Amino acid sequence: MLDYHLHLWTHDDPTTWLSLEQIADYCEEAQRHGVDEIAITEHIHRFSQATDLVGRFWETTEGDPRLQAQIASYIDWHTGQDLDAYVELCLAAKASGLPVKIGMEVDYYRGQMDEVAELLAPYPFDVLLGSIHWIGGWQFDDLANQEQMAQWDVRDVDACWDAYTEALEELAATGACDVLAHPDLIKVNGRIPTNPTEWWDRIAEAAQASGMAAEVSSAGWRKPVGEQYPALPLLDRFVAAGVPMTTASDAHATERVSDRSEDLEALLDAAGITTLASFEGRQRTDVPVRPS
Ligand SMILES: [Zn+2]
Ligand SMILES: [Zn+2]
Repeated sequence: MLDYHLHLWTHDDPTTWLSLEQIADYCEEAQRHGVDEIAITEHIHRFSQATDLVGRFWETTEGDPRLQAQIASYIDWHTGQDLDAYVELCLAAKASGLPVKIGMEVDYYRGQMDEVAELLAPYPFDVLLGSIHWIGGWQFDDLANQEQMAQWDVRDVDACWDAYTEALEELAATGACDVLAHPDLIKVNGRIPTNPTEWWDRIAEAAQASGMAAEVSSAGWRKPVGEQYPALPLLDRFVAAGVPMTTASDAHATERVSDRSEDLEALLDAAGITTLASFEGRQRTDVPVRPS
């Protein structure tokens, strides 16, 4: 098993400096859950190099000034770390023999993915996750933010799923990332269309057409939706389309690392998935779910 989605910072403390011990602890906790390889995948918007590059993107992608203000304060609060120091720490963890891959969770910036890819290209990343966390400037999954969550009451659910899927299709087509993170994150708050078939089909097609892998994540079990990402009908579509899969917890602290990996393993078994996608230098290798 893999845990290919791990953060080093929590969302309530942007200042803690990172240590090799923390990564060693993550590996130890992962091993307790039968996970033998992890990837550190911090959010790209933690790093000044990235936030300086993409600028105040919400000023062109979001029409609502209140939402612009919310995302501005979110990004300003979270950013400020140094990309070089982060990569060096991950490299040091790898060099020390820990079973760690160097990764990043990359957000979709409409029209700016070539520049983002250029920024990341010189670094020795093993795997890049692609994520949709906002539609325009609306952070639909920032559950702690009342103003963002209030949008769920005034927006049409089908339209939200459609906008999310369109962004995901655009992200996949850029080829900038290797794995679709939490592929149906738009369900996070439990708002699900009566018939999501169209969007499941399109998400699976986007993954297949791009050659990206997709993530099976336990994080959804900890959210209002109370379901892993992806929903089982979407997982079946990925399998039918031959999309490679990774497994992930999306933990932000040691106690959550590889959370419910045992349950993810049961899901893989039920879906007939016997291999997972491991990455090194952004090249994929299929590895057995359970190494012999
Ligand atoms: Zn995410
Ligand atoms: Zn994440």
